[in-house]
Amino acid sequence: MNDSLEHPYRGIGNGASFELADGLTWIRLPLPFPPRHVNVYRFEDEGGPVLVDCGFPDDATTACWKQLGSVPPAPDIVVTHFHPDHIGQAAHFEAMGARVHAPAPELEAAGELHALSGEQMQGSFAEFFALNGVSVPVAAIGGNRYRAAVPDLPAHAEPLGAGALPFAPSWSVSFAGGHSPAHALLYRHESPMLIAGDILLPEITPNISVWPNAPEADPLDDYLAALEELHKLPGNTLVLPAHGLPYRGVQRRIEAIRTHHEKRLSILRKAAGEGAALSAAEAIRLLFRPDLEPSSLPFALGEALAHLNRLRHGDELVRKLDEQGIYRYHARPRNS
Ligand SMILES: [Zn+2]
Repeated sequence: MNDSLEHPYRGIGNGASFELADGLTWIRLPLPFPPRHVNVYRFEDEGGPVLVDCGFPDDATTACWKQLGSVPPAPDIVVTHFHPDHIGQAAHFEAMGARVHAPAPELEAAGELHALSGEQMQGSFAEFFALNGVSVPVAAIGGNRYRAAVPDLPAHAEPLGAGALPFAPSWSVSFAGGHSPAHALLYRHESPMLIAGDILLPEITPNISVWPNAPEADPLDDYLAALEELHKLPGNTLVLPAHGLPYRGVQRRIEAIRTHHEKRLSILRKAAGEGAALSAAEAIRLLFRPDLEPSSLPFALGEALAHLNRLRHGDELVRKLDEQGIYRYHARPRNS
């Protein structure tokens, strides 16, 4: 629990549901990896029930849905973003007659990742690791981990636009970059509530990463821009996150997340300004604990690069390829 936030509700167990407000239910589902649970939300509006996110596609989650009652849980399902714990069960519910809605860039990202062969994925990570000075046997990356987690994607998902949800007009949709291409956020003005997915978690900061398919991207800039918009929400907004407890204190949470990223930026800024130019592999060692599992390395590298790219795109660092073919970052010389 985050003590700096107001948590009006106690925790519920995996497979449990709890009515937070008239027609709005919080449902907690299991996850086979930390943080071991994901929250999804179902609400009733003029157009009938809507489910936001649908859980990981494994037997434990399927069993929870059966136990919770009607399957599919709603005729309209909004998927916030393409990650397995959010889109996972969408194909299953679609096959049972539900309509799936998701931001178009999320559907594209899911499709592109799903289509890669295991060798293609390994190859792109091998090159990415080598350029950044990370030595890890590519076998440790495995094959296409996304497709292993999500064997089926919804085939007929409809693109979700910004503004009022056509089938639930009390709720409006906006998008946040950084964690994924265009993570959907759902906001209700009356007794303000934000279904925030992974964008504003109470305990952890969402992974903000640069990936091999877009090595020059600046996802931290996209994420910080989204936080700036969310900072304008009413102070009494109830934030409904995908992991952890619902909370009030959106501005305090945003400020803490900004401080977290500013600290990381200042560690790297300082390291690149002193002595030898910094590689992303060295940046990982400055930002993360030394005993990272090989399977966590893609995320650690992605996060390190998100901060290095922010400093580079912010004209503070420059990047050069060294004699070993590794990218190195150093402070931009003054007056150049
Ligand atoms: Zn996510």
